[in-house]
Amino acid sequence: MKILKFGGSSVAKSDRIKGIGTLIKTRVDAGEKLAVVFSAFGGVTDDLISLANKAEEGDDSYLEDLKNLRLRHQESVDALLPEDMASTIKEEVDKRLDELSNILHGAFLVKEASPRTMDFVQSFGERNSAFIISKYFSSIGIQALYCDARNLVRTNNEFGAAKVDFDVTNTQINAHFDSTQGSVNVITGFIGKCKEGLTTTLGRGGSDYTASIFSAALQAEALEIWTDVDGVLTSNPRVVRNAYTVPELSYNEAMELSHFGAKVIYPPTIQPALSKSIPIFIKNTFNPTHPGTRISSQTSEEHKDSITGLTSVSDISLITLEGSGLVGIPGTAARFFSCLGRAKVNVIMITQASSEHSICIAVKDAQSDSAQTALTSEFEREIEGGFLMTPAVVSNYSILAMVGEGMKSRPGLAGRLFSSLGRNGINVAAVAQGSSELNVTFAIHESDEHKALNLIHDAFFLSQTNKVHVFLMGVGLIGGTLVDQIERQHNLLKQEKQLDIKIIGMANSRKMLFNREGLELGNWKNQLEELGQESSFEAFTNTMVELNLPNSIFVDCTANPEVKNHYPAMLANSISISTANKVAASSSQEEFDALNELALKNNAQFLFETNVGAGLPLISTLKGLVESGDKVTQISAVISGSLSFIFNNYSPDKQFKDLVTLAREKGFTEPDPREDLSGNDIKRKIIILSRVAGHQIEPDDVEVEALLPDSCMNAKTVDDFFKELDNEAEYFKNIIKEADAAQSKLRYIAYFEDGKASIKLQKVEEDSPFYNLASTDNMIVFHTERYQERPLVVSGPGAGADVTAAGVFAEIIQYGNSID
Ligand code: ADP
Ligand code: ASP
Ligand code: MG
Repeated sequence: MKILKFGGSSVAKSDRIKGIGTLIKTRVDAGEKLAVVFSAFGGVTDDLISLANKAEEGDDSYLEDLKNLRLRHQESVDALLPEDMASTIKEEVDKRLDELSNILHGAFLVKEASPRTMDFVQSFGERNSAFIISKYFSSIGIQALYCDARNLVRTNNEFGAAKVDFDVTNTQINAHFDSTQGSVNVITGFIGKCKEGLTTTLGRGGSDYTASIFSAALQAEALEIWTDVDGVLTSNPRVVRNAYTVPELSYNEAMELSHFGAKVIYPPTIQPALSKSIPIFIKNTFNPTHPGTRISSQTSEEHKDSITGLTSVSDISLITLEGSGLVGIPGTAARFFSCLGRAKVNVIMITQASSEHSICIAVKDAQSDSAQTALTSEFEREIEGGFLMTPAVVSNYSILAMVGEGMKSRPGLAGRLFSSLGRNGINVAAVAQGSSELNVTFAIHESDEHKALNLIHDAFFLSQTNKVHVFLMGVGLIGGTLVDQIERQHNLLKQEKQLDIKIIGMANSRKMLFNREGLELGNWKNQLEELGQESSFEAFTNTMVELNLPNSIFVDCTANPEVKNHYPAMLANSISISTANKVAASSSQEEFDALNELALKNNAQFLFETNVGAGLPLISTLKGLVESGDKVTQISAVISGSLSFIFNNYSPDKQFKDLVTLAREKGFTEPDPREDLSGNDIKRKIIILSRVAGHQIEPDDVEVEALLPDSCMNAKTVDDFFKELDNEAEYFKNIIKEADAAQSKLRYIAYFEDGKASIKLQKVEEDSPFYNLASTDNMIVFHTERYQERPLVVSGPGAGADVTAAGVFAEIIQYGNSID
């Protein structure tokens, strides 16, 4: 004998039921002995509860809902059965629903639906589904028998979650099956009857339990639970999309997983099957050939080393009792838990500090009041005497549990778990580990539940792939190039570096677009235009924070001075920042320090390598020197790729303005070229270098020798500026002629020396390291205590969308590699 149970979602639609009919018939015809347990049609139990609630509240719209419920059942009879049979069966279903209608009318009149009434009301779901399905089975040639489990499953009268009297139940089940040999019993799940003859239920999801009770009573060969997923998965697939089937589980693991929230099995289900060593198979009605999960006491060696599941329970309150009255007083814990037991409070998790100074428990939100009241009255004297504080309650928490036999053999696992939570700004409120070491359980705020589940699942259940979630602001020259680079490298990075870099959000000044699974990059420009919503820095930041994805990094590829105002909110939410925008790192020293501190405090990174020298490894080199104890004595630097380009290409026969235009078109200047030519951009860069070198410096401290005549400096718009460049053509021609005559080259050089920064326009001769720079080259010369005689020189192209984007990309990869 095998017991098969089909859940609500498996019988929500008539064609599904037909599929089940075919399955059962094939197996019975092949000689298998089967009994089948059914839940109510999908959603019907919820509907029944809502009907009763409406009726007791005096809301007569329950009548309309009841009509719909009747219709739903009639329609399924019509869909499943030939016309000649359908009418008698519909009459029977109607008769049952008339009875339900009378009960609801009673509840409506007296404005009350007691737990006892609620159980009776809910029983109509399973009674109708199993009845209709049994008739359908008969119609396709299965020798089927409708079996109302109330006649067999004896319970106590704890309505809502009644306890089973196994002695009576097992005897009744065996007697019934003895007298119905040769038939396929089609059994109502979820319901039973107490000795007073009243209908009871076994708790929501209880049809699984019914099936297990029957399997144990009948010493079945197997219990098959047919549902809507491919077995027990590593986590709830509705929350963690990458969850995958666990092929085998021990009974203990299955018990822990179901107890801590894996809804796929109702927790009490394991016990009866376990007591008779009956293997449980979890199978998918929608994908019947999938092997699903086998739960038994015999698991493979390989399985014994694995972590099998990650679950969560929401709507949790944490209750803490604290004070010296707990320390070293025997019997306190016993009083604590007995009083909760008397108040029927189900304690989901317990932690006690080793100092014994506090005990913290987790209970469902709905039970927190009862728990608090029970504890307050039990410890009334101690609280009044000041030895204990009034129990403190915090709500809206979730409990997560990581379960598996393999947890025993993994030193350092908890450390890795909590460090990945910490890095993502998730605060752990309480931790417990069962002494069996089969699980680690911890409580976090409910708003972090999805993030934590995905984060931990990726870290522990997927191959070592690290996922990085990128939010890109600014998709112009640099940002756009970055998107293309990421798209090109994505597969290679994933396969060879185990880095999965996904762009989750992108925005330009008008539009923004998000997809929590990752944007499709092939066609990103059109998508952003067509599907994007109106963009603002604030809305972008809020969406990023709300999505609350692990390993998030914000990338600023704009030149907008306002974006930095949103950096603190990002860092405070543990979102790292990689910015090509220099405004933040070069603003006031106070602001710069605050951003670094905030990053440190929230385990986030504030990265700005491309602020100086585009893709050249400057900031990291400098940081490395300083952190290893070197002292920077002097920096001299040509750090404007745009000015290098202009000076290297300028000759007396060319128009200065044309070169500026060309540099701008090639993406070598800031969008507003006045930033470069005014010295402003160089000023920002030398400030940043000085700061990374370990000095405090304010923007006003930098001495800037002007390159441009006043007329150009004072131009109001970019267009005016270009006009003025034209007007001043002679001025520029003269300075270049002078340099030519002296056989020297023009360089705008930034210096940092003796704690002071300056920028000078200088003619350099052949013996200067800066003389031979070509194209957009930058050259940064560091004199330090270690590099005294011969300086450390970093040189190479210092502008251009390609190299800047590559610099940002390298930072994103560096961030990804820092996740473990
Ligand atoms: P049924 O109606 O068949 O009893 P349930 O809705 O009670 O089905 O249980 C199946 C559901 O359990 C799945 O659809 C899934 O959303 C949820 N679930 C939660 N955790 C897990 C898990 N670890 N593995 C599989 N399913 C899970
Ligand atoms: N129909 C009941 C419920 O929805 C029992 C079950 O489906 O297992 O809770
Ligand atoms: Mg279920």
